[in-house]
Amino acid sequence: MNRRDFYKRMVMLGIGVQGSSTIGKSTGSRQQAGSYYEEPSKKLPVRKFDVVVAGGGTAGVVAAIAAARNGAKTALIEVKGYPGGTVTEGGTALHSFYNLWKAFPGVKKRQVVRGIAQEIIDRLLRVGGTSGHAEMSKGYNYDSVCTCIDTEMYKLVTFEMLVEAGVFVCVNTLVAGAIMDGSRIKGVIVESRSGREAFYAKCFVDCTAYGDLAAFAGAKYSEPNDYPVVNSIGIANVSIEKLHDFLEKHDAIIQQAEGIRSGKDGQIVRIQGRTAKLPGGFGEKAGKIGMSMVTTTVHDNYFMFIKLNFKMPVSPTNRDEVAKAELELRRRQAKAIELFREYIPGCEKAFIARTSPKLCIRRGRLITCDYDISHEDVIEGRHFDDEIMVYGFHDSAPRYQIKNGGTYGFPYRALRVAGIENLLASGMLITSDHRAHMSTRNTVCCMGQGQASGTAAALCAAKNCGTRELRYSNLREALEKGDVYFES
Ligand SMILES: Cc1cc2nc3c(=O)[nH]c(=O)nc-3n(C[C@H](O)[C@H](O)[C@H](O)COP(=O)(O)OP(=O)(O)OC[C@H]3O[C@@H](n4cnc5c(N)ncnc54)[C@H](O)[C@@H]3O)c2cc1C
Repeated sequence: MNRRDFYKRMVMLGIGVQGSSTIGKSTGSRQQAGSYYEEPSKKLPVRKFDVVVAGGGTAGVVAAIAAARNGAKTALIEVKGYPGGTVTEGGTALHSFYNLWKAFPGVKKRQVVRGIAQEIIDRLLRVGGTSGHAEMSKGYNYDSVCTCIDTEMYKLVTFEMLVEAGVFVCVNTLVAGAIMDGSRIKGVIVESRSGREAFYAKCFVDCTAYGDLAAFAGAKYSEPNDYPVVNSIGIANVSIEKLHDFLEKHDAIIQQAEGIRSGKDGQIVRIQGRTAKLPGGFGEKAGKIGMSMVTTTVHDNYFMFIKLNFKMPVSPTNRDEVAKAELELRRRQAKAIELFREYIPGCEKAFIARTSPKLCIRRGRLITCDYDISHEDVIEGRHFDDEIMVYGFHDSAPRYQIKNGGTYGFPYRALRVAGIENLLASGMLITSDHRAHMSTRNTVCCMGQGQASGTAAALCAAKNCGTRELRYSNLREALEKGDVYFES
């Protein structure tokens, strides 16, 4: 079963819920009827910035670097101890810097995302932290190029880039509320072991994946609950060659790519197996724990990101249901490692070397923006007068591809949070259509969005204007200076 079919089955089992915009305005959105404690009001220390980026994940890292490089005094607030987010915790590889050219004879291979995203890969290459842009040798018509990363080096490299750009990096710090002045965000409330503080800024970017800041600010959102949640595992003490031979013997290879592994080029760095073809009922057992057999790696003896999927009955913003899911996923991880040891040659002494610190989502809140990219925009390869990047990958290929192996444009208005004067959003939290989201939510697209929203936020702060007053020509010029690729 491929990724698309897997999601489809999960969605059929899912229950969508509508969100309300009351979070942050009361003492809790899911408080049960009963007793209440009234918090005493308190004076908070204030820090002032031009731009505050909430969430230092896939999109947020790039947004903060872009904002700082464009002259803004920038703070990045990240609840975990490191930047990186889902690209270091849940994804399988970075998709994709390139168009899907291979499915279209005669169409040229083009690198359509560059800028800060490519800089991160260049830095990783220098420290042996990536496969490079690895081209598919099998299964290529739906996944032409993927870029595998060493997740730990990614955290370090991006942390260093943030500091070098002059970003005030607040890790282990939670965005816990918004301070509003009408439809303008005046500041965010942050919490850390240094206490509760107010960070004021002129412009804000929500890259929290969950849309926490937008929800705190009273923006409109829904909670589609249209994907399973995941905790992926990194498995060590394994042989990728033996896995390859085993899959090949059973004619079970769906996808394969070669790139740099343990310093040597031309090695298998990504392989996906059709579990149903494997003997001993492996497929059925893997299916029961939501396990998919796609792995990427940049090191010998290590498989990254073996995914364990679980469909929650409600949206992953529900703390108590998340607690149940966290336990269930860890039980599934234990069963997964048993399956590897029992069935896969070269994995007899495998062990779990890493898990994600918390479950990963593919979507939490869906934040309403001024424009919502449609599925037709994506597959018809539409371009816009105010586009801030182009993108050419679709997770549901070959069923859905961008027309003629080309690209679609990403309009600036798709990043502007509706109803709020000075808030942009980037990452998995925008794009309502599930099929369109299967393109826009991919890591490299999130990174490109981040560069645009950080750049725009810095320009808005410099000009003291709202996100809707920013002149597109100024934004475009700054993005081109930042090596963002446009088709024309
Ligand atoms: C299992 C799985 C497999 C995937 N496979 C692929 C793949 O193969 N290829 C691909 O390209 N994409 C893949 N994706 C999609 C892609 O990884 C994500 O869509 C993308 O990384 C999301 O980026 P983001 O910036 O929106 O969110 P994130 O990277 O999750 O960043 C959000 C950040 O905000 C922080 N945060 C959240 N709330 C707060 C708060 N209140 N205060 C402070 N910080 C906060 C989080 O800790 C996190 O660091 C996959 C995703 C999953 C879950």
